[in-house]
Amino acid sequence: MKKIDHHFTIEEYQLQELNQEEQSLIQKAKDATALSHSPYSRFRVGCAILLENGETVLGANQENAAYPVCLCAEGVALANAAANFNKVSIVSMAITIATEHGKMLDPVAPCGLCRQSILEYENRQNKNISLYLKGEGEKIYKVQSIKDLLPLNFSDKALL
Ligand SMILES: [Zn+2]
Repeated sequence: MKKIDHHFTIEEYQLQELNQEEQSLIQKAKDATALSHSPYSRFRVGCAILLENGETVLGANQENAAYPVCLCAEGVALANAAANFNKVSIVSMAITIATEHGKMLDPVAPCGLCRQSILEYENRQNKNISLYLKGEGEKIYKVQSIKDLLPLNFSDKALL
């Protein structure tokens, strides 16, 4: 038997420890929670994507009375980037939330579906996408690559 260890690092920051560009991206994600259509969960998620050309695109979760049709903020933002800035690389993504009670303090991470989706974009551009994750508290997690959140993943390499 052989054990394979997988290690990754999450960097934890307070907002003021990040540079202006990073802080701005997180603020845009926070602002994007206002674009959420979430009458069922009342869990508003905002995502801001920084592109290599300096542009920022936004996304917010879009719920549907038929629950499986719901779209995550990350997926909406990625589709927004692909539709409006096709083939421009993604540098980083900030994801945050807003709830009615304001007590979801810890950073919230992308769901499994979104991790798979972000992986596809990362592989397409052959460059890591940094993720900034924030809840309603002060703590911010930074992850260098979606592969850290999705080890042993399924990718296009399996289909070649
Ligand atoms: Zn998701």
